[in-house]
Amino acid sequence: MVHMHSVFCTTLSALNEPLPAVDYLVAFSGDKEVKCAKYATYGTVELAENALEALGNQNAVLLANHGLNAVAGNMMMAFAIAEQIEFCAEIYIRARSAGTPVILEDEEMARMVKRFANYGQKVEV
Ligand SMILES: [Zn+2]
Repeated sequence: MVHMHSVFCTTLSALNEPLPAVDYLVAFSGDKEVKCAKYATYGTVELAENALEALGNQNAVLLANHGLNAVAGNMMMAFAIAEQIEFCAEIYIRARSAGTPVILEDEEMARMVKRFANYGQKVEV
């Protein structure tokens, strides 16, 4: 797991909002959005439980007023997920400050999640 207090994920977590599919790279999370877990004091069992509940079967979860957790089978992948989600959070915050971001359709994100499951392998067009 990678845990971080990066600026844009933490900004979004301060709003207690999920990160929607503002970019197809949100699919790195394993779904169409990154949920935001309910706030709890750092280092507590309550925080861990809230994070796990919001994470579900996904690879990333925002922690309200705190930051982001990214999980994977190895550290390199967990870091890559964290990096991509931070990029998407930055795009989302910047797009919101410039106007109203267009969010990708659920069907498109389902296709992206499927593709990302085979990331690095040749994918049918
Ligand atoms: Zn922390």
